[in-house]
Amino acid sequence: MKQQCPEFPFFGARYPDARCVDGYLFDLDDCDSNGNLYDLGYDVPCPFCNKEKFLESYGAEAYNEIVSWVKEHDPDYECEYVEVKEEE
Ligand SMILES: [Zn+2]
Repeated sequence: MKQQCPEFPFFGARYPDARCVDGYLFDLDDCDSNGNLYDLGYDVPCPFCNKEKFLESYGAEAYNEIVSWVKEHDPDYECEYVEVKEEE
């Protein structure tokens, strides 16, 4: 069964403003009057179903921040922290 990825704050809001669509995040604040999301071309990989790509682009700390938010607000969704590697 495919689990819907959680929504969470990402684009600068304090409330969940990022939604996963086919593995990429869309900004829920950017939609037309019909509620259609604009494709802004951010190309932000979803940290849940596109985790490897997200980590490549944004790093483990950004990922863990999202995980900690989701664990607090959406406890039914299972996700795990990743190890933050120190830069050498
Ligand atoms: Zn996703």
